[in-house]
Amino acid sequence: MKFSDLQLIDPISRAVREEGYTIPTPIQAEAIPHLLEGRDLLGCAQTGTGKTAAFALPILQYLAANDPHNQRIRALVLTPTRELAAQIDESFRAYGRHLDLHTTVVFGGVGQANQEKALRKGIQILVATPGRLLDLMGQGIVRLDHLEIFVLDEADRMLDMGFIHDVKRVIAALPTERQSLFFSATMPPPVARLAASLLTDPVRVEVVPQATPAERINQRLMYVDKANKKELLGELIEEEEMGRTLVFTRTKHMANKLAQHLQRLGVSAGAIHGNKSQTARTQALAGFKDGSIRVLVATDIAARGIDVEGITHVINYDLPNEPESYVHRIGRTARAGAEGEALSLCSGEERVYVTDIERLIGMRIPVITDQPYHSEEARRGMVDGVAAIPIHKQPRPQRPPKDQRPEKKSSEGRSSSWGEGRGNRRDKTSRGDAGSRGEKAPRRERAPLPAARKEGSPQRPPRPANSDHASGRPGRSRRRRPSRADR
Ligand code: AMP
Repeated sequence: MKFSDLQLIDPISRAVREEGYTIPTPIQAEAIPHLLEGRDLLGCAQTGTGKTAAFALPILQYLAANDPHNQRIRALVLTPTRELAAQIDESFRAYGRHLDLHTTVVFGGVGQANQEKALRKGIQILVATPGRLLDLMGQGIVRLDHLEIFVLDEADRMLDMGFIHDVKRVIAALPTERQSLFFSATMPPPVARLAASLLTDPVRVEVVPQATPAERINQRLMYVDKANKKELLGELIEEEEMGRTLVFTRTKHMANKLAQHLQRLGVSAGAIHGNKSQTARTQALAGFKDGSIRVLVATDIAARGIDVEGITHVINYDLPNEPESYVHRIGRTARAGAEGEALSLCSGEERVYVTDIERLIGMRIPVITDQPYHSEEARRGMVDGVAAIPIHKQPRPQRPPKDQRPEKKSSEGRSSSWGEGRGNRRDKTSRGDAGSRGEKAPRRERAPLPAARKEGSPQRPPRPANSDHASGRPGRSRRRRPSRADR
């Protein structure tokens, strides 16, 4: 299928061509025709699949064709993080550059004045994070009573981050007669329930089984005691030829610590997480994109919005306790047909996560034992001679007194005062990382890292013949979007 088969109007087709897109991605090919007809949509897709254009193009086309000079908010995209919000806003502007439509983005962590000014000028498309949106609604600056299209993006992350009540409050303020689009990378029962409450007779589109990492990603695993991880990371980054590298940590505190450690080693490194100011996050991301920052250390949630091409290495400094997150993380490399490397450092406390990950991805991750910090103990899931307690089951240590905490909270409106994961299991347990088992192991003599020796051979699962298949539901009645005259 080509873009020309999608019956997009000329100004949009031109913008798409200028973006360099020639072939629609599977989600675009499946979703766009249904969305142009006004159907609701349930999309099981993650960032990187082209889902932004899948919803942005039909929204722009509808608004351009119907009452284009109406300057009320007619389409709303609700998304969990500031980075995602900024990227979606950018995409709307790019795809709508030949149209006379106006988009703006609102999120917390920055002053309200500029956002307010943009809103007062009159816009048709609003991209927002929930906390700031509710603030602006409460102040009467945003009114959604003329909304016609609502997109809930990354619904599973919204729930993970504890935004469910905010999301429900926003939904309660929307007109009931509207087109609704719902996207989520995973569909656990609470997410499915939310989707069912929001959508009417939706088309279902599912792309890329989340359990299948790209085959071009060379995955490797290193067993190492927790106390030696920092040294190992430093040596890997110094001695392996790593280009643009994204390092994942479980905690914001560790992200900072590692970035500082790498800077001390002379590596250009930055950190990005929810406690950083918006300006600091934007700067770190810009540096990562333009190459002035080679290594970016990020927490999962902050990294959701990172869409940077040419990431050569992803390093899991901490392994995620949710195996799906592993697949999301390593999917940051090997984009657009490139090759990528994914390296995971596993301590005894994380050993159980490897089992879960390997079960999900259906293959054994090759282990590199030929490295100076290899730990057989970690490989057996032990710490100090006893079976380790997985990190998410360890007791939560006391928080240090306020004046001894490493950083200030961000000010992302009301919602962000919950930090990067209100109600998030991963975040609740994560404080342990900073405080427990803090003794440092003696620094070993630096041994050069020998060439990687891999153990075992990866067994890839057979790919489903039609893994990108997206299933519409034929034969269902199509809901016509009511025109303004109907209401
Ligand atoms: P998304 O999943 O919307 O975040 O998109 C991921 C990346 O794919 C973005 O950098 C888009 O610019 C790019 N992209 C989206 N659609 C296409 C397409 N049809 N062809 C090539 N690149 C695309």
